[in-house]
Amino acid sequence: MNNKLYGKLIFELSHEGSRAYSLPGNEFGGYELPSEMRREADAELPECDELTVVRHYTNMSGNNFGVDNGFYPLGSCTMKYNPYINEEMAARREFSAVHPLQPVDTCQGALAVYYNLQKSLSAITGLSEFTLNPFAGAHGELTGLMIIRAYHESRGDGKRVKVIVPDSAHGTNPASAAVCGLEVVEVKSTADGTVDVEDLRGLLDDTVAAMMMTNPNTLGLFEPRIPEIAEMVHACGALMYYDGANLNPMLGVCRPGDMGFDVMHINLHKTFSTPHGGGGPGSGPVGVRKGLEQFLPKPKVVKNGDRYDIETADDGIHVGAFLGNFCVDVKAYTYILTLGRENLKMVGPLATLNANYIKECLKDVYDLPITGLCKHEFVFNGLKDKSTGVTTMDVAKRLLDFGFHAPTIYFPLLFHEAMMIEPTENETKETIDAFISVMREIAREAKDEPETVKSAPHDTPIGRVDDVLAAKHPVLKFQ
Ligand SMILES: *Cc1c(COP(=O)(O)O)cnc(C)c1O
Repeated sequence: MNNKLYGKLIFELSHEGSRAYSLPGNEFGGYELPSEMRREADAELPECDELTVVRHYTNMSGNNFGVDNGFYPLGSCTMKYNPYINEEMAARREFSAVHPLQPVDTCQGALAVYYNLQKSLSAITGLSEFTLNPFAGAHGELTGLMIIRAYHESRGDGKRVKVIVPDSAHGTNPASAAVCGLEVVEVKSTADGTVDVEDLRGLLDDTVAAMMMTNPNTLGLFEPRIPEIAEMVHACGALMYYDGANLNPMLGVCRPGDMGFDVMHINLHKTFSTPHGGGGPGSGPVGVRKGLEQFLPKPKVVKNGDRYDIETADDGIHVGAFLGNFCVDVKAYTYILTLGRENLKMVGPLATLNANYIKECLKDVYDLPITGLCKHEFVFNGLKDKSTGVTTMDVAKRLLDFGFHAPTIYFPLLFHEAMMIEPTENETKETIDAFISVMREIAREAKDEPETVKSAPHDTPIGRVDDVLAAKHPVLKFQ
């Protein structure tokens, strides 16, 4: 958009006396707010006509980058395509207009969707029962840990206060454990990037409540020693927790319930194709193995004969308002039904193939600290040739000039120049090849014209920002 008018802030478009609305007079007469609740001066809002407002925000929205604009290989976030049929289903009045307190006889269809999603997740993961109440992955972790604590307490085993978390774990794992009032103990990774079983052995005793694992782990590697780890953890009386935020590579291939996990969460807003980013809405269902169902939070949807009911309870765990983010559940269930059993099984292998293809095509110019097969994502440690001084941050910024979203950078913390790439299963070979050639071009620039990369981005509406200044001294209002 070259028109200078629309690169401006809405305050700069303000024109005294312009109005974008006209409210009808109040036929019931006025209501005077008590004076102590009234402003002394008018709020300083921009004054614009309706069409200017519409154009301003429509043009601003064109500056957004999303999965619908281009390739978005943000590792650990699974930015996969969100088919529009999911949105159409969630927007149907039968789903969007139900009230959480309306009589169950009047919303049997909505409850059927809810119940069937609970059952589908059990079938996909091999766990006995699911709650859809938690609103996000981290909320699911907290719920799962509360379940684990309730389980230990029910057995009179109150001394279990520790949660073991791998050093490569997502930051939400230790955070959730801490919020749950549990103590975090870190288990090391071996040089090949998987859990160090010997280190774990030394940490296990009767004060451990749970071991949290992510599989494939944050480096995109399948943890090969899970059966052995599960046996050790169970032998000491603790439970196995599975962080299934990124279940993508596992869909239809293997199931956490079959690996010895007791409790897990899933991010519907990653693996099950409901849009996320910008803070929501999400859904982080939690599943438990047989024998732990009674610890799941209420309310939940149950089926009695042909009728669906909502079961509530005053005691036990409560983690959110009503039954969770129902619109997200409708989208996830639509996604599962549109793919069906057979196609759902293709998700994992295709995501894995795409990630390995990119990794192999770029490993001669980018530093690959952990070689071998990855699952749905992998980590480079910056450019192979570090002599140019071009960093991962520079490469990420330069990618924006070529119309690609940057990968996840500087996470996981195991490598200084981490660049975590996750292509997902939806991308065509043409898109992936285009990304590979741009990544190679940036590597060439780093060598021949490093300043081009270091000063990127050049073609975005806003150039390189000072991240530290922005974080320490944010300017949040128009002056
Ligand atoms: C995204 C993610 C989470 C947290 O999920 P939120 O919905 O953002 O709270 C937890 N663990 C892993 C491995 C993740 O990738």
